[in-house]
Amino acid sequence: MKIHGISIGRAAHNIVADEGLYYTIQEVSGKLGIPIQKLRRWDQDGVLTAQRSFGGHRRYLRELIDRLAAQSISPDKTSKQLATIKKSLAEKQRIIQLLLDSEHRYRDLVETSHDLVWTTDPQGRFTYLNNAARDIFGLAPRDLSGRCFFDFEAGNAHIANRRFLALLRRNGEIRDYVTHVVTARGDSRWIGINARTLLDDNREIMGIRGTARDITEQHLATRRIEHLAMHDTLTDLPNRVALQTRIETSIPGGTPGALLLLDIDHFKYVNDNYGHRTGDQLIRGVGSALRDMMREFSGELYRLGGDEFAIHLPGCLRQDAIDVAERALDTVQHYRLQASGNRGISNLSTSIGIALYPFHGETVGELLSNVDIAMYQAKEHGRNRHVIFDRGSEAMRNTHKRVHWSMKLREAIDGDRLLLFAQPVVRLADRKTMHHEILLRLRDDDGKIVMPGHFIEIAESIGMIKELDMCVVEKLLLHMHHNDQIGRKLRYFVNLSRVSISDANWVKRFINMLSVSKIDPGQLVFEITETAAMSEIDVTLNFIRRVKDLGSRFALDDFGAGFSSFYYLKRFEVDYLKIDGGFIRDLASDGSNQVFVKALNDVARGMGKQVIAEWVETPEVLQILQDIGAQYGQGYLFSPPRLLEGKLDDGAVGDFSAA
Ligand code: GH3
Ligand code: MG
Repeated sequence: MKIHGISIGRAAHNIVADEGLYYTIQEVSGKLGIPIQKLRRWDQDGVLTAQRSFGGHRRYLRELIDRLAAQSISPDKTSKQLATIKKSLAEKQRIIQLLLDSEHRYRDLVETSHDLVWTTDPQGRFTYLNNAARDIFGLAPRDLSGRCFFDFEAGNAHIANRRFLALLRRNGEIRDYVTHVVTARGDSRWIGINARTLLDDNREIMGIRGTARDITEQHLATRRIEHLAMHDTLTDLPNRVALQTRIETSIPGGTPGALLLLDIDHFKYVNDNYGHRTGDQLIRGVGSALRDMMREFSGELYRLGGDEFAIHLPGCLRQDAIDVAERALDTVQHYRLQASGNRGISNLSTSIGIALYPFHGETVGELLSNVDIAMYQAKEHGRNRHVIFDRGSEAMRNTHKRVHWSMKLREAIDGDRLLLFAQPVVRLADRKTMHHEILLRLRDDDGKIVMPGHFIEIAESIGMIKELDMCVVEKLLLHMHHNDQIGRKLRYFVNLSRVSISDANWVKRFINMLSVSKIDPGQLVFEITETAAMSEIDVTLNFIRRVKDLGSRFALDDFGAGFSSFYYLKRFEVDYLKIDGGFIRDLASDGSNQVFVKALNDVARGMGKQVIAEWVETPEVLQILQDIGAQYGQGYLFSPPRLLEGKLDDGAVGDFSAA
């Protein structure tokens, strides 16, 4: 090796021929500024080799030393450079070794990875694959060289695959692309791919590399869940969610269409008489008959739940919808189920509502609600028929109101939005609160408090009052149980509907609920309006007896409004009479009402009944009632109804005037 022309290494000790051409070691030391000792060592180590005089003294070539001195190259410096070079070489070697180790480690990881690691040439042909290729393509990596993903694509995956490739070329990277392949063994596999293009200095694609993973299990599970979310498990027909999604995309398209809602008539009869299993069989059978029928039409069949089906006819007009409805009526009528024990179920019928969009609904919600109304109309008109929704019809409006309220009440019950309010009943002599009347309200979904005047009558007409009454009793018993524990005993008046007390099953459940509760029945007074009590006297008598057997009390509400004979007062074992507020409110200015209320009070007291005057709103009315000798009063003069438990939200608006 040569550095600046100095021969490095152990040279032979030549004998100098011409002393004039050489410097002594002392002279070199002076010229280069290097101690003699060091020069000797360098000579031994071959760093700066000296020659010998005849006398054996070290001699150094003048020319070399002069040049060294002129270049001011210190051999010390040279040695430092030498050391640095050596050090850098060792460092390079160490780095190369680390890189080799890392490369091995990577190769091991890649080769043993469960994920496929792959690279391709610019055309997408494999240039490298790890061993996971065997699981994904069913071939060894070497057998895949030169082939590509698309050689294995399944079904119509090629359409999406071409799009994937175009997107990859444009964006340079794609993550979580899912494609369908068929392996060399013929197995169907779903794989998830991450890919990135490799660019050369001119930004041309020189290859693609990425990873891929077999996600078949996960993909199929996701598809199963998606299917379940959109399909009914009993019939495997698409469900209500699927219908809503479908119509949501159809309506804004601007093309008209029709929706038919089918509800099997008297289906409960099948459930009750043949059992639920047969009921299920029937639903499946009707579903399959309708599915067969729909092969002739271009439309989709759905099962919405219970015994309800829907047919969506995109692009169809009124007459098409009627044709399909008539065929559906016919199909259901001709359907026959062979139930167990040779009993056949036939002569079924269905009621069908028809709504046309966009005329009968510009949103899914409106369309579904209107088709529901039309279907209820078909039921009301005698079943086994179809009815087209008609916005202008009075009957349709009434049905609409009922359907609207039945949904609203259902949501309120299910969403625990029934509220109990309580209004004090005070002893007129000392204005002390003796009892409370429980009044029902419901909290609307926008937080507003809805008064019972809006929904009780409808709830009675659609039969939901029974559920409301039961909820009120249940909630009150819970409240009383809690109050019992904190030692507060009050008597509560609870309103019940004629519809509830005339249903034997309801009364049974009601009595059972009271019997199992730990509440003292003496704390409860059940009220029925005079008119309701008189409409079915035997039912009322029977109910009063059962309530009294339990130890509770009974009150006739709105007394005077029905003006029934006092004779019945004797027959009914009534504990309290609540005089209708219509006689009380204007008592101060209406002399005839004063006469009537006094007579009523006298007769009732004479019969041992306690009298409560409702709607006491002014001190003058209170004075008259005290003069008449009435015992109890209830009204705004004492207190409006207040929420029994908790507090109303700030946004809640209570319209107490209609209490
Ligand atoms: P209507 O003529 O007014 O339609 O009376 P309906 O007896 O057919 O009764 P409705 O349509 O109001 O109720 C359908 C009943 O179907 C209510 C429920 O007991 C029953 N039901 C709901 N889902 C299922 C189900 O999956 N299987 C069975 N077997 N019965 C169901
Ligand atoms: Mg039905």
